[in-house]
Amino acid sequence: MNEKKPSVADVASKYKQYLFPSVATYYAEPVAIESGKGCQVRDFDGKTYLDFFGGILTVSVGHANERVNAAVRAQMDRLGHVSTVYPTLPLASLAEKLVKLAPGALEKAFFCASGSEADETAVALAQAHTGRQEVIALRHGYSGRTMLGQALTGHSSYRQSTSQVAAAKHAHAPYCYRCPFGLAYPSCELRCAQDVEELIRTTTTGQVAGVVIEPILGVGGVIAPPPGWMQLVVDIVRRYGGVFVCDEVQTGFGRTGTMWGVDHEGVEPDIVTMAKGIANGYPISAVVTTAPIAGAWRAGNIATFGGNPIACAAANATIDTIVEERLADNAGAMGKILREGLESLKAKYTVIGDVRGRGLMQGVEIVRDEKAGDRTPAVETTVAAFEEARRRGLLVGRGGLYSNVLRIAPPLVVTAREVDDALGILDESFAAISERR
Ligand code: PMP
Repeated sequence: MNEKKPSVADVASKYKQYLFPSVATYYAEPVAIESGKGCQVRDFDGKTYLDFFGGILTVSVGHANERVNAAVRAQMDRLGHVSTVYPTLPLASLAEKLVKLAPGALEKAFFCASGSEADETAVALAQAHTGRQEVIALRHGYSGRTMLGQALTGHSSYRQSTSQVAAAKHAHAPYCYRCPFGLAYPSCELRCAQDVEELIRTTTTGQVAGVVIEPILGVGGVIAPPPGWMQLVVDIVRRYGGVFVCDEVQTGFGRTGTMWGVDHEGVEPDIVTMAKGIANGYPISAVVTTAPIAGAWRAGNIATFGGNPIACAAANATIDTIVEERLADNAGAMGKILREGLESLKAKYTVIGDVRGRGLMQGVEIVRDEKAGDRTPAVETTVAAFEEARRRGLLVGRGGLYSNVLRIAPPLVVTAREVDDALGILDESFAAISERR
């Protein structure tokens, strides 16, 4: 057999013909990836890219990581799948590891296959434990694509279904750059957090099951809260009987320079959801909670693919790598270089309105003209910067309610050299679009 090697165009045309949504290509010209190693990927036409979006923050220890691949291969040859009705060693070991590593004093783990499922499970647990229905979520937050996930998500463009399956009430996000109250931290005295009490008293029965918080709102445009915000929100929710569900789907496993995003806040969650970076891209997610909350689930609870042994082996190897190679520290150190570079770009280009985030989870909000005080979201400029970066061999993400935030989140193994290269490409990209304006 001497089949012709497929090109980017071949892959893209098949994609367009057989998948829906049929135009779901991130770039004007699709980037069809054939292979990857570390922080680099290569497309079917042989062009290489620095991958600073890492499979939407999943590829935590780098593409084709040898330790993860070896663990996956070994597990594949031993046992592929039996479902959660039989205990397996990779699953039991992963549960033990997560319970020991999780923030706060959590004791029990449950496994499923996606972040959406994990968030659904967490909310159902909060409801079962408290006997209450209503849940506080955040505007600009993202919880997934299931019905409940969409209902919790505070971002209209991700709501396909019109029905709201959960009693989700959306609090203001701690979006300081576009403060919903027109105030500034710290003189605002965390007005957005204080408002959660008003939200509970005016829009709920006065009793809530809990609050779902991403320590940094990722899809919402890398919105990082000011100091004290999370503590205040959680205190209010607990006063009204609710629990704190911390969604670490993006921020977990070293991403922000600490093992968990919530480690920056001094608040202990009651339930934590995890996915994305847990297994370097293999599909597995987890919910970790206290024994009393776990015990509130009385119904049958089976996730057929939850805790698949191969995905668990990938997760065990990924987490061991993050811990043993101190990759959270690397995320902190490389994040500092990245952040300083992005701040310099902000000083140079007036279309950069805001740079924010923590560690290797940084966002660059693009506006019409920051220096002239015009913060109108500049979507076309954002798309232009994104395309220019791709042309020069750098992949980043996009997000935000207005789709005007570049999301920069390379694998945690990124080197200073790679960060410098990425910053150089961003500099050239912004220079190119500034000339055009
Ligand atoms: N929570 C957060 C914070 C997320 O970013 C995402 C995915 N972007 C989800 C939940 C849902 O995860 P999944 O796409 O795996 O269902």
